[in-house]
Amino acid sequence: MLKGKVSIVTAASRGIGAGVASVLAREGSDLVIASRDSARLEKLARELETKYGVSVVPVQADLTKREDVRRIAEAAIRHFGKVDVLAYNTGPPKPGAFMELSEEDWEYGVRLLLMSAVWITRDVLPHMVERRQGRLIYITSSTLKQPIPTLTLSNVIRISLAGLVKTLAYQLGPYNILVNGIMQGYVDTERVREVAAARAQREERRVEDVIKEIEREVPLGRLAKPEEIGELVAFLASDKASYITGSLILIDGGRTLCI
Ligand code: NAD
Repeated sequence: MLKGKVSIVTAASRGIGAGVASVLAREGSDLVIASRDSARLEKLARELETKYGVSVVPVQADLTKREDVRRIAEAAIRHFGKVDVLAYNTGPPKPGAFMELSEEDWEYGVRLLLMSAVWITRDVLPHMVERRQGRLIYITSSTLKQPIPTLTLSNVIRISLAGLVKTLAYQLGPYNILVNGIMQGYVDTERVREVAAARAQREERRVEDVIKEIEREVPLGRLAKPEEIGELVAFLASDKASYITGSLILIDGGRTLCI
């Protein structure tokens, strides 16, 4: 479905980003994968190359640093000469109630959840505009649709990506660049397991019981696999999604009830 395409996946060393990268590779896309953890990135890159016969370039980059982000698109252009797909994902923000967050937490959160998206979009866009084609896919969170009370930074800052998706879809339609967002619910990643383990310890319960409680909130009765988010990204990146732009798509097992 994506043979001959070049995709960038950010925050890709584990979790959702790694799941997205592996589905795009399975579909034949060459990749630039970026994250802070160079050892895991390198390992993933070699695994995907061996398994799927695509080229994968790992780039160590902290998404909160402008100069690091710049190196991601540069690597794509240097190695492949183009970017067809940006699958933007980022690290999780600090959880906490408003009164628990410092001004530094807010500034870091804005860089992590908003400015990183702005920066990488600025870097890939001229190349997409020049070729009159491209797909921008922003992986955000179901908190855009239904905030989670303790995730203040996520609730407040991520909503701006909805504005980015709608605005860019409008402005870039004439250039045949399609722009969409993904709002995922619970996904079974190391991060979610770490958060569940911390909660289990606080509440003196078993981790499995905390996970079961989360699963009970979801009509499908389970968390998503990271690859299931990847399947949606691959579809949006493909020719099959040629008339979808400006959409924010929920993928949450039916958990969010508002329409
Ligand atoms: P994870 O912790 O398992 O993986 C996060 C990835 O981001 C890792 O590759 C890590 O190296 C990278 N990363 C973290 N901070 C970074 C930084 N400053 N610069 C570059 N890379 C960085 O997390 P996940 O569960 O895969 O979640 C991915 C994103 O999706 C997060 O923003 C998270 O808040 C959001 N999200 C997750 C869920 C879920 O249930 N897992 C649900 C909704 C939204």
